[in-house]
Amino acid sequence: EALDPREEKLAKTLSRIKRLIVVLSGKGGVGKSTVAANLAVALSLAEKNVGLLDVDIHGPSVPRLFSLQGTQPHAETTHMEPVPWSKRLSLMSLGFMLPDAYQAVIWRGPVKMGAIRQFIEDVSWGELDYLVVDCPPGTGDEPLSVMQLLGQRAEAVIVTTPQAVAVDDVRRSVSFVHEMGNRVLGVVENMSGFVCSHCEQVTNIFSTGGGERLAAEMGVPFLGRIPLDPELARAGDEGYAFMKVHPEHPTAKAVQTVADAV
Ligand code: ADP
Repeated sequence: EALDPREEKLAKTLSRIKRLIVVLSGKGGVGKSTVAANLAVALSLAEKNVGLLDVDIHGPSVPRLFSLQGTQPHAETTHMEPVPWSKRLSLMSLGFMLPDAYQAVIWRGPVKMGAIRQFIEDVSWGELDYLVVDCPPGTGDEPLSVMQLLGQRAEAVIVTTPQAVAVDDVRRSVSFVHEMGNRVLGVVENMSGFVCSHCEQVTNIFSTGGGERLAAEMGVPFLGRIPLDPELARAGDEGYAFMKVHPEHPTAKAVQTVADAV
């Protein structure tokens, strides 16, 4: 049976990518984008060729995280080139397509799905070891279409915070991925303990271990915890790559542990 030309194009693009890592979360604000971006940088620093695709339609964060607001990717009639950030890391974000990064995106469902679809189909990544995908949060239509487009090879990293309230969200996310027949690479517990900027001592502000317990309960790997660290938040706000600037920092080591586990 002949493939739709669009599907054929997508299949060809994806066939040149060794691993598809989708970063998901049960809800917004848990640090999904921060984890996705730092994971992508960590993998690229380990000499892997990496693409970071930001499909978070309501809050695309890659332009801000990498100080690339206002950047226009090179576009041909049939495809778009991702924006090179380093020799080994290239970036594409829905935020590059939107006229104003601060403008709320209010689209009807079908238009939104069409945009996600076209966006995933039209980016030509070339040969990659990893494509890290910053997915819209939750388990609704948007993450569903992202997963469907990427197909069975997509592997999920689920980001959560340690509080008990977040745990139900993780459970839903794990089930969501399993129901689609995709693999859960594991759970990352973000904002797990507070790192003092002065003494680097860790204080557990919230109860910890929720993500780890849930991973054990659901039979999926636990990939590690990343502390609540003002330095990491500042790097995101100011748009520099924390992993590159502070490679020896304990928080960078925590991200590295997660990168080693994927
Ligand atoms: P999401 O993608 O889940 O909505 P973000 O990655 O945008 O979440 O993070 C939400 C906010 O929390 C951002 O301001 C970000 O800088 C901050 N943040 C995320 N993870 C951490 C962390 N480990 N330590 C400190 N701040 C963090």
